[in-house]
Amino acid sequence: MQANQPTTNAALMARRNAAVTRGVGQAHEIFVQRALDAELWDVEGRRYIDFAGGIAVLNTGHLHPAVIAAVKAQLDLYTHTCFQVIAYEPYVELAEKLNALAPGGFAKKTLLLTTGAEAVENAVKVARAYTRRPGIIAFTGGYHGRTNMTLGMTGKVAPYKLGFGPFPGEVFHAEYPNALHGVSVEKALHSVELILKNDIEAERVAAFIIEPVQGEGGFYIAPPEFVSGLKALADRHGILLIADEVQTGAGRTGTWFASEQWPVAPDLIATAKSMAGGFPLSGLVGRADVMDAPGPGGLGGTYAGSPIGCAAALAVLQVFEDEKLLDRSRALGDHLLKGLRAMAATEKSIADVRGLGAMVAIELCENGDPARPDADLTKRVVAEAAKRGLILLSCGTYGNVLRILVPLTAPDALLDEGLKILADSFAALR
Ligand code: PMP
Repeated sequence: MQANQPTTNAALMARRNAAVTRGVGQAHEIFVQRALDAELWDVEGRRYIDFAGGIAVLNTGHLHPAVIAAVKAQLDLYTHTCFQVIAYEPYVELAEKLNALAPGGFAKKTLLLTTGAEAVENAVKVARAYTRRPGIIAFTGGYHGRTNMTLGMTGKVAPYKLGFGPFPGEVFHAEYPNALHGVSVEKALHSVELILKNDIEAERVAAFIIEPVQGEGGFYIAPPEFVSGLKALADRHGILLIADEVQTGAGRTGTWFASEQWPVAPDLIATAKSMAGGFPLSGLVGRADVMDAPGPGGLGGTYAGSPIGCAAALAVLQVFEDEKLLDRSRALGDHLLKGLRAMAATEKSIADVRGLGAMVAIELCENGDPARPDADLTKRVVAEAAKRGLILLSCGTYGNVLRILVPLTAPDALLDEGLKILADSFAALR
């Protein structure tokens, strides 16, 4: 290719397909040139509204000036020492802040890591070290990451688990409550009790792990009664409760952690994604006695709690305070729900509109019948919207859910522009 020839998405796709493993999926055949807040521009100069937010990573938007300034300042001081070799204050300060934010009237401690899967893996390590038990009970439709242990806990086969087994033993799946698809709170709790009867005795179970709102699984929300029931079971048997807040955390649901809205506090919370506004950082926050169960040297990682990530995360927390982004998360969620409900009144395929804070989705079914999920229409809406300049993501066990993870910093006018493109996309496909 000549140096001065403009790059196209198609040309880059061809190079990508030749050079990058096909195992890495790609929702849109688009290559970004630059991005700002809730908009991005591709290499051909086309503008898009970003309702995907890098899969829940950009609650403070692309290139938030305060986050970028904090990272630039950190770059001039030091970028890496490895916290286990030479420590640094931003790690400690962030741990203090996360401990203060996490729900529960007990002392807390924090471990910082790099990816969401790593945070979840470490939740299992810590829970096993504390309880000295092996068993983990996760939920159908749940998503916990792509490492071997987190895949074992993930409750969706295609595409994540295909061809990658065997997975670690002593992991079981109970039913996630899902009223739309016939799983009541009672039924879901009963499915946990059945595992304790059929598969593993309660005395050998270390933890229940649950997403407060399933992310990849379809934005289903665990009702508070379910969480209370699960916690009661956990307490009866000395089992820990782990909240996987990798997708729900960092203000997406209207509170910093979604589990702040639970009637009971989890023992451990895994967090990642938006906590560092686009920089790789994750964490595990929890009961101090539980977090201190592993011995010195048992936890960590070369890049774990990178100074760049910590500086970004501290700036993100400040932005949340300065711009009142938790209030904005709730208002933005209400705004989207209102718009989507209006759309559902005329668009028959929208079987459900749901959300917690700004974690909002619609579920598409033939004639609005939940028994007939419409993955094909979902794919076509995503493609049509992209053509019209809106980046959307699908999710769900049946691939029929459109989720919105737009930056909380997006102005209402941009949300409305995005909703209009979505409505136009439905109309164009009718
Ligand atoms: N848990 C949940 C709930 C997630 O949504 C994700 C990412 N989609 C993960 C874990 C894994 O995070 P990561 O991709 O950063 O490893």
